[in-house]
Amino acid sequence: MRTITDIREMQRIALQLKREGKTIGFVPTMGYLHEGHLSLLRNARKENDVTVVSIFVNPLQFGPKEDLATYPRDLERDSSLAEKEGCDYLFFPSAEDMYPAALSVTAKVQERTDVLCGKSRPGHFDGVATVLIKLFNIVQPDKVYFGMKDAQQVAVVDGLVRDFNIPVEIVPVQTVREEDGLAKSSRNVHLLPAERDQASALHQSLKMAESLITEGEYDPVKILSVIRGFIEKNTSGEIDYIEILSYPDLKQLTRLEEKIIIAMAVKFTKARLIDNAIISVRKES
Ligand code: AMP
Repeated sequence: MRTITDIREMQRIALQLKREGKTIGFVPTMGYLHEGHLSLLRNARKENDVTVVSIFVNPLQFGPKEDLATYPRDLERDSSLAEKEGCDYLFFPSAEDMYPAALSVTAKVQERTDVLCGKSRPGHFDGVATVLIKLFNIVQPDKVYFGMKDAQQVAVVDGLVRDFNIPVEIVPVQTVREEDGLAKSSRNVHLLPAERDQASALHQSLKMAESLITEGEYDPVKILSVIRGFIEKNTSGEIDYIEILSYPDLKQLTRLEEKIIIAMAVKFTKARLIDNAIISVRKES
């Protein structure tokens, strides 16, 4: 595996690989790699000639009161994990090189951003879309791998690629979880021990909601109130949002039908956790 920090060198390598007719699978990350990231990498390896993993904690997607400064970082550990998993290129640009000056053009996400994390993190998806346009131009990927833990991100990036005619295929990958159901996340290291024990309640509440729907409950208000009650009873976290929307359009629903997402964000002392379930609702007969 080669670690590349220079943006132009990464782009030169990628363009050369394309000239040789090689396909490039790309996994953009913010580092502090875990099994979730490695699962994306495994999928990328299977389906492409060459794999690139980027590690870049993108300042543009963090709000002023968010955890940019404390976001966990460990390049040495990340490189050894990526190399063991067979990554070909680890792209690790600096923020100074990515943003030497304020950008003269940035992306603005218009749809699917007034709900969920888009609502509670204003500007977040504009930052995500902007950095992805840069990364796609540098890495020249054929396929890009994203985790469904960030389902809204997948929906937004689908729109970005479609609206800007970017010739990449977005490949969504299922969420990887701890044994107790907690979705793997770089931010989990910031949970206090008691909070770590409580954090599996997020997934449990989603499973409960899924059972209710299977049993025929189609009223989103009732399901939301069960989830809220469960999280409040079983965690000390502060609920940022819990929403049920259509997926992938992310529209409000008065009654559940077709494909829906139940998504939540819960703030613990030093970590804000997100999780979701995407459910195909059985048609009423
Ligand atoms: P991050 O480093 O948190 O920006 O995540 C980089 C990519 O890994 C994103 O596409 C995430 O959705 C994905 N990812 C993060 N956690 C998981 C997980 N537990 N399972 C699957 N993919 C994940």
